[in-house]
Amino acid sequence: MEPAVAFDNSYARLPDRFYAKLKPKPVKEPALIALNDPLAVELGIDPASLNSPESIAALAGNAVLEGSDPLAMAYAGHQFGGWSPQLGDGRALLLGEVIDKNGTRRDIQLKGSGPTPFSRMGDGRAWLGPVLREYIVSEAMAALGVPTTRALAAVATGEQVAREQVLPGAILTRVSTSHLRVGTFQYFAARQDVDGLRQLADYAIDRLYPLIKVGDDPYGTFLERVIQAQAALVSQWMGLGFIHGVMNTDNVSIAGETIDYGPCAFMDGFHPQRVFSSIDEGARYAYSNQPRIAHWNLVQFAQALLPLLDEDGEKAVEKAQTAIDIFPNLFQKNYLRIFNAKLGLSLIEEGDEERIEQLLKMMTKKQADFTQTFRYLANEDHPALASILEEEKIQNWLEELEIRRGRDASTLVEHGALMRNSNPAYIPRNHRIEQAIRAALEGDFAPFERLNEVLSNPYEEQAGAEDLAQPPEPKEIVQATFCGT
Ligand code: AMP
Ligand code: MG
Repeated sequence: MEPAVAFDNSYARLPDRFYAKLKPKPVKEPALIALNDPLAVELGIDPASLNSPESIAALAGNAVLEGSDPLAMAYAGHQFGGWSPQLGDGRALLLGEVIDKNGTRRDIQLKGSGPTPFSRMGDGRAWLGPVLREYIVSEAMAALGVPTTRALAAVATGEQVAREQVLPGAILTRVSTSHLRVGTFQYFAARQDVDGLRQLADYAIDRLYPLIKVGDDPYGTFLERVIQAQAALVSQWMGLGFIHGVMNTDNVSIAGETIDYGPCAFMDGFHPQRVFSSIDEGARYAYSNQPRIAHWNLVQFAQALLPLLDEDGEKAVEKAQTAIDIFPNLFQKNYLRIFNAKLGLSLIEEGDEERIEQLLKMMTKKQADFTQTFRYLANEDHPALASILEEEKIQNWLEELEIRRGRDASTLVEHGALMRNSNPAYIPRNHRIEQAIRAALEGDFAPFERLNEVLSNPYEEQAGAEDLAQPPEPKEIVQATFCGT
């Protein structure tokens, strides 16, 4: 029989000190919650073969699929600004890699699969809530067009996990273009293991940015690529009102994907200083701080790469500094392009930044719903806009926008399409996610499935899904989100 998954495990061929190899810890009673058929197909896996008792056992960690060579990756990281020299996969195991339909190597990982040598005090498990949450939000991100890790499957374990309460356990199968993080590089740099650092960088370049290998400065270019990828990613988050919540360096992907859906949230009522994470007491990772934090995280990355950038220490620092100094400008360009597209503008000119700022100020004043405001704008529903913002101010602003549009390259039809493809009707709203989790705890997975279905097509209004486009009622507003670890 053909193996269900055609593994080819390049990370497992790196030296021993890059990981700890171990098997997942079996659970009591695996039961499938969700299987992402289109993603399976994209990965070259027959969805039917994943839906067999043997495969479901493997997705719960009760069996190891043929060709899989499970391991927990070692990494370090700055958490809320504080340095942790040893983190690593404490509740995750890389099962192996596959080459997808596009020829891209993808990691397949279990999250919640039991303790590893990196678990510290944790139990290595996850409860149902965060697993469903990550499933919904990461898949929605993909549908919104944002680089992200994906969710291939969710299974219930039939076991209980102890958090503030005792809750049902679950395991997520996560797919990424690579789980390498800034923290993986910091791990080797902090140990002054320059050989390891170089092997890691060569591995990352081969896998993620193969074309730069032929240039005359692969490591310098690698640094630039990672900086560019983060500038692009974080500007996309900003354009959707997304707050990551734990932008620690161990949660910054070298592939430029959104990773680690803990206490993340899409904003409803807009405020630039909005924070959801219950553990982010200093508001370090507030919405409008995200670009600055991304910059800070990239400085840590550049620092870790120093030994590779030049043999001469001073020259290495100079090179790192030059690369890192590009970030603010690069971010701003991406940000303007994204927000201009939200206004139906395809070019950028002087004064655009101010125009965006004016709108955001009006939204802040009324705590207007981020997604709804921009969708009204996309649908040219000016009365609706006037009803949620200050009427006279928004009318003036819209008149100015109309004049500005006259100078833009796009036609009326083009700017309508640009706006509707830049301003989603649906995002995974916090209160809907919580409702789906509450229902699932009662054994009803229909709201979870409905949410996934509607969010798979976020830029088009869908008949019968009007409720999912609405902001929360005052009593439904979610004020805080939790890591769920
Ligand atoms: P995160 O906040 O998810 O980025 O996790 C930070 C670190 O804590 C990572 O090394 C995780 O693997 C580890 N961790 C989080 N939750 C658990 C858990 N329940 N058991 C063991 N390790 C965990
Ligand atoms: Mg993490």
